[in-house]
Amino acid sequence: MSKTKIVGTMILVVGYLLVFFAADNYNFSLFNDVMPTSSAGVDRGRLPAVILDAGHGGADGGCVSYNGVPEKNINLDIMLRLKCMLEAYGYEVIVTRDKDVSIHDEGVTGLGAQKKSDMKNRLDIMNSRENAIVISIHQNQFTDPKYSGAQMFYSATNPESERLASAMQQAFVNELQPDNKRETKLSGKELYLIYFAKAPSVMIECGFLSNPQEADLLQTEDYRKKVAFTIFKGINEYCGVA
Ligand SMILES: [Zn+2]
Repeated sequence: MSKTKIVGTMILVVGYLLVFFAADNYNFSLFNDVMPTSSAGVDRGRLPAVILDAGHGGADGGCVSYNGVPEKNINLDIMLRLKCMLEAYGYEVIVTRDKDVSIHDEGVTGLGAQKKSDMKNRLDIMNSRENAIVISIHQNQFTDPKYSGAQMFYSATNPESERLASAMQQAFVNELQPDNKRETKLSGKELYLIYFAKAPSVMIECGFLSNPQEADLLQTEDYRKKVAFTIFKGINEYCGVA
């Protein structure tokens, strides 16, 4: 074996090891503190498919924390943790992205056109499946750093979306933020994906990156795991399998 081949093989092996560790990182808690004891007996045949959308990606970082961290990777990390929990519970999960990318069509140039193509492709994925729900994960930002807490946005285009948003808001109060007094918010076409998605859909603003305490929490693995679990509970509540 030539020197280059040996080095190439070593890189491949290290790469695989990293993937295994990453997968393990997302799976580590599933059968310990995450799986509800009441999961036995759930009729998984009637569960909807869950379409998970981690907001932004690639050149589009989304909003940025007070200390310069963009929301895109926080969204992705929460989404991947949630995906593991849902799949372990028996849900079929479909994702719009599973890495730090924009999913625009090949050959599209210019950030504006890429964003438009990315949104269209995300919507196509969301509308590709009957009997589904859509969960879009984002982080919030505001000029005044005092605001914090999760908030759910929904559209009236599917009448079930309001119930999904309420179940999710309540899950955040129950699991994570007992003092959260925020109300679910009805939105229009400005939230393109949840407006045009046909399935019951909710956009989850998990927290404010402009609030230093909340942004610091969202930058820890432990808190992102808790957020993922909270969303998992909200989905189960909505599906009547809590
Ligand atoms: Zn966002």
